[in-house]
Amino acid sequence: MVRNLEKSRAAFERACHVLVGGVNSPVRAFNAVGGTPPVIASAAGARLTDIDDNEYIDYVGSYGPLIHGHAQEQVVTAITKATRRGTTYGAPTEAETKLAELILAAYPTAEMVRFVYSGTEACMSALRLVRAVTRRNKIIKCIGCYHGHSDCLLVQPDTSATTSTSPSSRGVPPAATADTLLVPYNDVKAAKRAFDEHGADVAGMILEPVCGNMGVVLPVKGYLQALRELCDSHKALLIFDEVITGFRLAFGGAQEVFGVQPDITTLGKIIGGGLPVGAYLGSAKIMSQLAPLGDVYQAGTLSGNPLAMAAGLATLEPLRDGAAYGRLEGLGAAMVEEMAEAADKAKLGDRICIQRAGSMLTVFFTAGAVTDYASAAKSNLHAYAAFFHAMLDAGIYLPPSQFEAWFISLAHTQNDITITAEAAVGAFRAAAKAMQ
Ligand SMILES: *Cc1c(COP(=O)(O)O)cnc(C)c1O
Repeated sequence: MVRNLEKSRAAFERACHVLVGGVNSPVRAFNAVGGTPPVIASAAGARLTDIDDNEYIDYVGSYGPLIHGHAQEQVVTAITKATRRGTTYGAPTEAETKLAELILAAYPTAEMVRFVYSGTEACMSALRLVRAVTRRNKIIKCIGCYHGHSDCLLVQPDTSATTSTSPSSRGVPPAATADTLLVPYNDVKAAKRAFDEHGADVAGMILEPVCGNMGVVLPVKGYLQALRELCDSHKALLIFDEVITGFRLAFGGAQEVFGVQPDITTLGKIIGGGLPVGAYLGSAKIMSQLAPLGDVYQAGTLSGNPLAMAAGLATLEPLRDGAAYGRLEGLGAAMVEEMAEAADKAKLGDRICIQRAGSMLTVFFTAGAVTDYASAAKSNLHAYAAFFHAMLDAGIYLPPSQFEAWFISLAHTQNDITITAEAAVGAFRAAAKAMQ
């Protein structure tokens, strides 16, 4: 079956005249898989509907925020009610305090929160804070982790294969990345080397405790704890970017699951319930160095926006008792099992690798375990593109890149998983053909 995408094609063509690449965030343009994206008209629960009336089971979930699925009743009601009370005041509200209290209850080593608009802003601001607190400039980052598009984080390794870097985007001055060091994820020795060489200048290390941005990659046993110890012994601060994993893997995020406590946590995505929010949090001692208590400046006209706070509260409150995470774990496990069976049916079982943490997963088109960016990059991207398009055509909406996580929401059912795995048999066959 080939879907009718006539209206989407025309609408996207029109968009391309006025929006850069037809989109407002690059991955949406399908550059990595080719073709043009369906233009979405509406969504409900686990399903998207495009403007040609095609329906898709959605595993993108807006790249992470929609843990309850689309247009969940309580979230919609909370936003609607908040809107009637006024959309922004530029003055304190009770909702900000309530959301902060709810978040701090989940992240017990933190005592104070600052809300911002996005994950990018949370990470950018967290780095300014760790630099101020430590009075040092260097930041250690892992290759393949994504922390938003601020200048000092848009880096690539220098060819010299040390920890030194250069900008990964034109427009970023080399001076902006000069203090960013890169190490491979899951490599304690490399991190130790970076600290040994630069320790006295290292303000902090930032990483995704479970990666979602090179596809799903889990920390090897002891990795996070080793980084905690390295940071402590060099008096540097540890930042966990839990913009994806916060409230996704557990109510207390990856740090609850792995039992390792960072100094600063960055959040986003789920805490905004589908509206734009980010946050960073840490001890009172660290956070009180921010203006207006301290002299580290950071501000935002719409920060703590009442609609976003209402959406966040409506999203987080039902997750608090933890029951949701049991259900997501069950759906995630079923997905891996049924996808593996589908791959076996297509005789591709030994040439793919499915990695999962709770309700986030990636089907990598490479045989080996994926532990870092280098092993993720061995994936056959032609195979992923073929798989992606066959799935899309069968009504399954996956991320348009090998290096993104699939998200299962509480709106997905076991039946959705089974439909997805059935479609995957044909899609894996298409991928196998693309590998030849
Ligand atoms: C999405 C993401 C960000 C950036 O968040 P935006 O809201 O897109 O700016 C930062 N870190 C991680 C781990 C992310 O997945």
